[in-house]
Amino acid sequence: MENVDVAIVGAGIAGLACGVALSDAGFRVLVLEAADTPGGRARSWTDATTGDRVDIGPHILLSEYRNMLAWLERLGTASQVRWQRERFLTLVDPPHAPVAVRVGRLPPPLHMLPSMLAIPQLSLRDTLSNARLMWRIARLTPQALQALDGTTAEALLRADGVSPRYVDWFWRTAAMTVMNVPLNACSAAALLQLFRYLMGVGSYRVGFARVGLGDLYVPQAVRAIEAAGGRVRTSTQAASLRIDGDRATGLRLHDGTEIRARACVAAVPPAELADLLPPGCEASHPPFARLRDFAPSPYVSTYLWFDRVLGPARFWSNVWAPDRLNYDFYDLAHIRDDLVDRRSVIAANIIYSDRLPPLDDAAIIEATRRELCLHVPEAAHARLVHAAVHRIPMAIPAPFPGSEAMRPVAVTPIDGLVLAGDWLQTGLPVSMESAARAAALAAEAVCTSLGRPRTIVKPLPRVEGLFALAGRGRMP
Ligand SMILES: Cc1cc2nc3c(=O)[nH]c(=O)nc-3n(C[C@H](O)[C@H](O)[C@H](O)COP(=O)(O)OP(=O)(O)OC[C@H]3O[C@@H](n4cnc5c(N)ncnc54)[C@H](O)[C@@H]3O)c2cc1C
Repeated sequence: MENVDVAIVGAGIAGLACGVALSDAGFRVLVLEAADTPGGRARSWTDATTGDRVDIGPHILLSEYRNMLAWLERLGTASQVRWQRERFLTLVDPPHAPVAVRVGRLPPPLHMLPSMLAIPQLSLRDTLSNARLMWRIARLTPQALQALDGTTAEALLRADGVSPRYVDWFWRTAAMTVMNVPLNACSAAALLQLFRYLMGVGSYRVGFARVGLGDLYVPQAVRAIEAAGGRVRTSTQAASLRIDGDRATGLRLHDGTEIRARACVAAVPPAELADLLPPGCEASHPPFARLRDFAPSPYVSTYLWFDRVLGPARFWSNVWAPDRLNYDFYDLAHIRDDLVDRRSVIAANIIYSDRLPPLDDAAIIEATRRELCLHVPEAAHARLVHAAVHRIPMAIPAPFPGSEAMRPVAVTPIDGLVLAGDWLQTGLPVSMESAARAAALAAEAVCTSLGRPRTIVKPLPRVEGLFALAGRGRMP
């Protein structure tokens, strides 16, 4: 039997960020992690062949990741994010020239308009066909969002009169790259919630970890928790929550150990939370009723090591095509401090990989190299010295129609049990920032319930310009 103030299950971003916040508030925290390393779906490891640090798959951060960046600031690693200044994204669609989408000086939502108007594949009429949709996004209300959750984004765009060419070229690419599912399988509410920020905030920048992604936060968070008398135990799987009456009093581990805690935080994905609950709990408590209905968006992330630097490109995405495998590409030679100018290490994501027939590693490597050549033809002539394929069963819970309504809040009907994780209702799309915000919400709830209230959560980004005017008083 072990006694702690707070037991946290899961040492991904949500569990560790919550653990650090609670340690800072003076609580003794025990974080339990089933895997042999902390970091969860944003972890890193050393590639056995090259000795380079690789991530589970390449990630981007956004300058509006307020909770995540505040946490990195707390951990002393915020300066290890390399911010892209000159452009938001390069879109690749051969035989046309690549398109650089820039965040310009016009007020939102016009800040990207000059870039969009310069795309030869889209006419002025195509671009203007988004007017009704933009008006809808600017004037969103929580009720309107809720009502759109059951609709697919594709059906909504069609109903709002967006031209088929704009849908194919822009919205199908956006759905895959930012929502992680095809447009016809994406909740309209989830898409609009994200685009309200992308179109309503004029200062977005894209950032990348200059070190391994997990190295931005794992060792520093473990140190912060241990410095406050807490612990992070890896290779330790929680088997079940102990619930006496309607109060969580601790946890049972797989080896039979009992942990007694004044509060418990479950910072695990939905299916793993369902496994932790005692029998009958899912049926009797509405927030838990649909945990097993969340479906995954699986990824295949590929890393290719070349014998030279291939060119100046750092980050780009291929435009949607029916047979497209990889969307986002990264050359770590222009991102990572340890690789700068040494040789190209290309990372790429096959998003929502279930849409493809089964492919073995050799076929994935070959196809990824072929798609890399669409933007970096030099890759056809360089020597590929090593490759790694990471198959990830769930990158995020998929934002399918109906899924927004399934996202629970941090506070549960069971006293002493609080939830964290990217999939909670945070007002944000499922992402690292949603995980960090959920962690802050959970930590605030625990501090309040244990009698030491404090403010930890950072506010959501504020929409600006015409969006702020048109939507005044509509969204909280
Ligand atoms: C390839 C890839 C690319 C991505 N790209 C981006 C991106 O560009 N930008 C972005 O913002 N987000 C991106 N994401 C999503 C982001 O990584 C996740 O949203 C975030 O890491 C989720 O953190 P979390 O703490 O909520 O969950 P997790 O990281 O899943 O953490 C949960 C932890 O709980 C542990 N656990 C589960 N059950 C138990 C148990 N019973 N006992 C003990 N431990 C348990 C798990 O092992 C895990 O470590 C990407 C994800 C992937 C995989």
